[in-house]
Amino acid sequence: MLPVVALVGRPNVGKSTLFNRLTNTRDALVADYPGLTRDRQYGQATYDQKQFIVVDTGGITGDEEGIDAQMAQQSLMAIDEADVVVFMVDARAGLMPADQAISDHLRKLDKTVFVVANKVDGIDGDSESAEFYSLGLGTVYQIAAAHGRGVTQLLELSLAPL
Ligand code: GDP
Ligand code: MG
Repeated sequence: MLPVVALVGRPNVGKSTLFNRLTNTRDALVADYPGLTRDRQYGQATYDQKQFIVVDTGGITGDEEGIDAQMAQQSLMAIDEADVVVFMVDARAGLMPADQAISDHLRKLDKTVFVVANKVDGIDGDSESAEFYSLGLGTVYQIAAAHGRGVTQLLELSLAPL
């Protein structure tokens, strides 16, 4: 069984962009509106001769009704089956109530979680991601999934325990 890395977070934080980069595909639809991915999507990735499965998820809005509830359910299942959770937040949008809700859930679990502030291209990453330390999930890693910045470091760290 290959190790499983799940990408979770609010819609629109860049999960599918990172999924495509890690899997070297365009399998996940990327758009600047939320809620495009309803189900979980699986892809295979390799880094430094290590193979792993990446799971893209629709996202958790923190306000789960109707289709959002299904999407959140899929995200919870992805978390459940993951060896490592990459919890993505949006450094440009800042800390949102849904980030807090997701974090509250993750903190209850015995999972390895990496908090990743995405979209740090063209902004002051250190100051824009500082507020995510209040989620209480440890170090906030900075990436720009669309450009690849920080992704190698994230892989080094997140795959190390696997
Ligand atoms: P998802 O809903 O979490 O899967 O987010 P997507 O991957 O669909 O991305 C949402 C939007 O954010 C799209 O318009 C992306 O092009 C944009 N985006 C993703 N990663 C980055 C990034 O590193 N920098 C910037 N500036 N935009 C990004
Ligand atoms: Mg998506």
